[in-house]
Amino acid sequence: MSSFVFPVTRNDKPSAKPDPKELGFGNYFTDHMLVMEYSEGAGWTDGRIVPYAPLAVDPAAAVFHYAQEVFEGLKAFKTKDGDIRLFRPYENAGRSNVSSRRLCIPAIDEELYVEAVKALVREDSDWVPAEPGTSLYIRPFIIATEAFLGVRPSKDYLFCVILSPVGSYYKEGLTPTRIYVEDECVRSSGGGTGFAKTGANYAVGLLSQEKAKANGCAQVLWLDGVERRYVEEIGTSNAFFLMDNIVYTPPASDTILPGITRKSAIELMRAWGLRVEETRFTIEDVLDAHSKGRLTEAFATGTAAVISPVGEIVYKKESIIINNRKTGLLSLRLYETLTGIQYGDAPDTYDWMTPI
Ligand SMILES: *Cc1c(COP(=O)(O)O)cnc(C)c1O
Repeated sequence: MSSFVFPVTRNDKPSAKPDPKELGFGNYFTDHMLVMEYSEGAGWTDGRIVPYAPLAVDPAAAVFHYAQEVFEGLKAFKTKDGDIRLFRPYENAGRSNVSSRRLCIPAIDEELYVEAVKALVREDSDWVPAEPGTSLYIRPFIIATEAFLGVRPSKDYLFCVILSPVGSYYKEGLTPTRIYVEDECVRSSGGGTGFAKTGANYAVGLLSQEKAKANGCAQVLWLDGVERRYVEEIGTSNAFFLMDNIVYTPPASDTILPGITRKSAIELMRAWGLRVEETRFTIEDVLDAHSKGRLTEAFATGTAAVISPVGEIVYKKESIIINNRKTGLLSLRLYETLTGIQYGDAPDTYDWMTPI
């Protein structure tokens, strides 16, 4: 039994549930949210579940001016038997504290963090969709709320968790995407905040994302901030390349967000006997491998899509087609294994699933 109690104020005007076929991503929110405050001396207190509603935050709050905030993203899945389970929530709680340390935000006890998420999902459990491929996306975040315009860490914070039922990322099976190699703007540089899940990293990526779109691409492939050569990430997900039967992915570093899907995919591939190299490699290495027929697959990993195969890479005036724009066998095996574990159709041999 959890020793944490989160009092509930019920929403007396619950919303109608959306059509599970029309969910998309991040369009709908459930009837409740969880809030908890931090103040100097008192620490994190008063965690409670309240009706979903706009927040009352002072316009001078530090988050609006200096972007002192962190967030997380994870999912709850419904099994065939109607059980609701979270995928590796302690990983998110731990990573949130790593992000917070970088942004001078006080840590939250990991047990408290996970219990808060579970309590909210339990409260809104009838919002977890059951249709194949759907899930409940969970967005915990922390914002600096002190009303003060000086530049220093805020003394007050708000932890908030909201929930959004989301549709299947893929309507008709995995669809390989076209990605744009960004060789001007950078997402992150050594010593920066690339490893932290903070909104500022997303704000600096928007312009490149628009550029990718204008070039007919779904996502950006980020290069390193010093030489614009080393492969870093794909959009807001981690990058993998299968070259000569070896799986390459950039190593965890201060410029790369340590994805939980990335970590899980690496654990699975190593258990399957595949060689996975967490090492630096350049975009030229990728193009060179392609020209010699040694690049067989590329894919990205992240909570939203799980596995997103790459069918084409656009770099400067060049473009390369990977695996005939078809989903590769490794991408498919990873997708089916991970989603099989998540939805309870495959045994949870790694103990990744946490009941609510
Ligand atoms: C969240 C995120 C990822 C993926 O992490 P998961 O834990 O697998 O969802 C990768 N890159 C960036 C920049 C991210 O923000």
